[in-house]
Amino acid sequence: MVKSTVKVVIRTRPTANFASKNLKLDLEKKTIEVFIPKDSTQGMINNQQENWKFKFDDFLHNAPQEEVYNICGQDIVRSVIEGYNGTIFAYGQTGAGKTYTMSGGSQNYKFRGIIPRAISQIFREVQNKPEFSFTIKVSYVEIYNELVYDLLSTIPPSEQAGSIMIQDDSKYGIVVKGLTLVMSTSEEDALNQLFEGETNRTIAEHKLNKSSTRSHCIYTLHIESRSRVESSEKVVFSKLNLVDLAGSERTKKTGSEGLTLTEANFINKSLSYMEQVVIALSEKGRDHVPYRQSKLTYILKDSIGGNSKTLMVANIWPEPEHMEETISTLRFATRMMRVSNEITINVE
Ligand code: ADP
Repeated sequence: MVKSTVKVVIRTRPTANFASKNLKLDLEKKTIEVFIPKDSTQGMINNQQENWKFKFDDFLHNAPQEEVYNICGQDIVRSVIEGYNGTIFAYGQTGAGKTYTMSGGSQNYKFRGIIPRAISQIFREVQNKPEFSFTIKVSYVEIYNELVYDLLSTIPPSEQAGSIMIQDDSKYGIVVKGLTLVMSTSEEDALNQLFEGETNRTIAEHKLNKSSTRSHCIYTLHIESRSRVESSEKVVFSKLNLVDLAGSERTKKTGSEGLTLTEANFINKSLSYMEQVVIALSEKGRDHVPYRQSKLTYILKDSIGGNSKTLMVANIWPEPEHMEETISTLRFATRMMRVSNEITINVE
């Protein structure tokens, strides 16, 4: 077992209306200072603190997608190929750029996000390891209102209720039972599954009358490698979880955007359970971590405090009107950096 703390990278959404009176970025020192006048009308901030200073592992300000991948994706993907579990997830308020970061802009190849780039790196790098035989499968789940949907199943999401179970296996860690795993033999295969899942998600959105910013999505690459040289039957297996979380804004604001209270409550609950898990891990160590309170925290048990190299991209939208969410994201991100995982190569 090796200790590996969760890395946190802040990414700002580019904007012409940058909150220069409220935010001071020092890209060299990787710090961000936030100033809020005491008479601010922004709820939670009022009467609390005027100045905050945060330091993170890295800062991506007006960064192109390629740079984002080089900093956030490359190393984790490489260690997943070696047999470690990995997780990259995007956190932040709706509109801050989580989907842009994870999936990317569809218009142009150079705008593709972390998921397609990770797929590409994996298939490229396994080709350079002819001494191993790799089997790569993909799965794609969505968590919406505390139900887990299999986005690659032939059964439409609206008819899947209850078919998925999350289990904690002593050998494999978290296993999602009943989930469709699709064998992928090429980058194109794995990308097709990603698009297939996105399409199913969109269809379900219309059927259930829901909005994609209200659900959590996890695209996972499951990798098995067998040595062709060693005489032993050793199999190394690992997973790469790529997670696009629902918007972290609170009910007050989501309500005003016309979303249902039930949805907002589920989101607030699962993200606040995630906060509770992170607080438990960052303050009290490993005892009594409330993973089972929600599907999201249970599915991400290996990723947060378990056997996984994990990186969180905290997306912020640095405009004056989003200071409350920005501070809330930066505070959560600071806690996340205190979470220490213990990683090991999984050998069968
Ligand atoms: P979220 O998933 O957090 O709700 P999105 O990724 O959908 O946010 O981003 C909201 C909008 O901002 C989209 O139109 C997206 O293309 C744009 N956007 C976000 N981040 C960037 C960025 N770094 N560069 C260019 N456009 C961005």
